[in-house]
Amino acid sequence: MSLNNDIVILLKDLINFESVTPDNSDCQKYIDDYLCKSNFKTDYIKYDDVQNMISTYGNGSPCLAFIGHTDVVPAGNINLWDSKPFKLTKKDDFLVGRGTSDMKGGIACFMQAVREFIDENKNFQGTIKLILTGDEEGDAINGIRKLIENNTFKKNELDFCLVGEPSSSDSIGDVIRNGRRGSITGHLTIFGVQGHVAYPEKAKNPIHLSSKILSQLLDIKFDNGNEYFPPTSFQISNINSGTGVDNVIPGSAAIAFNIRYSTETNHEEIKNKILKILNDSNCKYNIDWKHSGEPFLTRNNEFIDICKQSIKNVTNLDTEISTNGGTSDGRFMAKVCNQVVELGLTNRSIHKINECVRKDDLSVLVKIYKSILTRVFIK
Ligand SMILES: [Zn+2]
Repeated sequence: MSLNNDIVILLKDLINFESVTPDNSDCQKYIDDYLCKSNFKTDYIKYDDVQNMISTYGNGSPCLAFIGHTDVVPAGNINLWDSKPFKLTKKDDFLVGRGTSDMKGGIACFMQAVREFIDENKNFQGTIKLILTGDEEGDAINGIRKLIENNTFKKNELDFCLVGEPSSSDSIGDVIRNGRRGSITGHLTIFGVQGHVAYPEKAKNPIHLSSKILSQLLDIKFDNGNEYFPPTSFQISNINSGTGVDNVIPGSAAIAFNIRYSTETNHEEIKNKILKILNDSNCKYNIDWKHSGEPFLTRNNEFIDICKQSIKNVTNLDTEISTNGGTSDGRFMAKVCNQVVELGLTNRSIHKINECVRKDDLSVLVKIYKSILTRVFIK
């Protein structure tokens, strides 16, 4: 296997940019230069230290936007990698490097697909956009979220959004996402009164108080889910208390939990159910919330069907439609676009040491993206 076919060269160049969040490398400039050769026009929109780019080809409808991020998670301990994380390295049938799957591989496939598509269909009617951010893996404040908050896109401007995140499980196109669950995190502190374990009547044990509260929180039934979403799930992620010695009742207990929720509820309803239990407990407490996103769901089947047919055409696979997984920028795009689908490479090695992509998967994904472009613009 050589590293010299078009798609692999593209990916090799993209991986070379050490674009850890927030991406301030020249990665977006590289993509801009490439697209410019196919007559795309690029606007850069910067918020604080985050650069976003919107590249546009053509005009009018239909408009298909590819959504992605050029930033990557840190390499972690580079001594654990078998090769340099920011140098694309072949290993058997795989190409290894940070961002190969999440999601420079997806971006490279889309770049290659639009170039081939435009070369073969010079006068198609419609608009292709690439909307890329350098801030997806971090807090994602100044990326796609900000573009949407600042009304960068007109209502009805975007007909279809294809989020190129690694949605696939074992083979390309086996899973696509038509939505994601919402996510809200609570940081709860229960206050007691510190004291000697031998004199419990003079203290108030916050661990004991918490255990009662937690069991009530775990019993909350938020909803039953629906056709597209599993039931809302409440998970405790951290509990911290105690002074480290055996004879002291601590003064407080800190608990963190996260709720992944369906479209059958919303974050206000979730908060109210939790606050009711906390208030009824008569404990002194403090809670800070972090709401990372509402759930979204694409109900219209038009674009889902286009994606499914394209996958079937190229791979002969029947696709599973799912709303599982973490949050993505699809949640923000769903505010301005009714049809958002996530379809990309496999997610088995994302964020890991030795992140990799199967080389053959790249050409399969190029073909699928090209087939989608054809179905949207040529029919
Ligand atoms: Zn990603």
